[in-house]
Amino acid sequence: MPVKNRFAELQDEITAWRRDLHENPEILFETHRTSAMVAEKLQEFGCDEVVTGIGRTGVVGVIKGKSDSSGKVIGLRADMDALPIHEATGLDYASKTPGAMHACGHDGHTAMLLGAAKYLSENRNFDGTVVVIFQPAEEGGGGGREMCEDGMMDRWNIQEVYGMHNWPGQPVGKFAIRPGSFFAATDQFDITFEGRGGHAAKPHETVDTTVLAAQAVLALQTISSRNADPIDQVVVSVTSFETSSKAFNVIPQTVRIKGTVRTMSKDMRDLAEKRINEICNGVAATFGGTADVTYIRGYPVMVNSEEQTEFAAAVARSVSGDCDDAPLVMGGEDFAFMLEERPGAYILVGNGDTAMVHHPEYNFNDEAIPAGCSWWAEIVEQRMPAA
Ligand SMILES: [Zn+2]
Ligand SMILES: [Zn+2]
Repeated sequence: MPVKNRFAELQDEITAWRRDLHENPEILFETHRTSAMVAEKLQEFGCDEVVTGIGRTGVVGVIKGKSDSSGKVIGLRADMDALPIHEATGLDYASKTPGAMHACGHDGHTAMLLGAAKYLSENRNFDGTVVVIFQPAEEGGGGGREMCEDGMMDRWNIQEVYGMHNWPGQPVGKFAIRPGSFFAATDQFDITFEGRGGHAAKPHETVDTTVLAAQAVLALQTISSRNADPIDQVVVSVTSFETSSKAFNVIPQTVRIKGTVRTMSKDMRDLAEKRINEICNGVAATFGGTADVTYIRGYPVMVNSEEQTEFAAAVARSVSGDCDDAPLVMGGEDFAFMLEERPGAYILVGNGDTAMVHHPEYNFNDEAIPAGCSWWAEIVEQRMPAA
């Protein structure tokens, strides 16, 4: 059962939607034009229910099958937001908004799920209900979390959820997936060390905060090398180091460091947070200073459920003939919040040999549309076969 013929027919139309979205990128929760376009299309397709304003600018569409003896409800989710990147593709449909760009392919995700919604509304060849979920603010805003907090899962009685992301470097239209932990938890820390500033020629009269903070930066690397089990993944990166002095001859009063923590399990995440606090406070005390540690929890680890992953991979094989084992990804993914509430699976679809996501020359590959749309439709038709 390869790509569905209907999506070969619809490819030009879906591509036109995708390019229109690409030209008009919107960031975080500001997806007003995009959400309106999605809601308008879902109405036009004849969805049974279209609701806007879930998770601020999120949109939900409901499509009922020919019958509902199964009582099943499956959620299919796409993200809609762009990134604060200035586009450098030179495409004739490049972003018309300076400093904003669909550099992660969410234009493609939205267009593919719309394509699937059109097909599913036309055919309704399944026994149960589909809820199509279009979320804002995947790129750091937690739009998925806000849709869940708005009670989306219970309101529509969603039982399973599926998500998809394009993947540069993977052959076009070929899928990859893995069960269990897949995308990392993404946390941040913001730490201010305080010593006692003074004249750089008289260090003995100061508590040199620069030396103190430098020791802490090095010690933070022992979380991965000495505290974590070597088979567990953890990344601690200090990305900003800023002293309160701009002079050659002044020892600063404070040093502020910032950075990110990526982990693949709840235990590792808890350990990293605990050790960052202990190390920074301990090192500061050793040198006679203090540390003010703020640890900000971002997206949780995204965990694919075993059974749904096996099913999603089988569907991918039925569409593309094959499905690869995906690697662990140390990036974060907001779909993690939906997978915390319901079992489900997240799959990667090949974008071919393109620039990586978040690069100013990246572009979603429209050739992936028939495979992506077919996977969505087959998830529904195989999971809830028509009675
Ligand atoms: Zn992204
Ligand atoms: Zn993305």
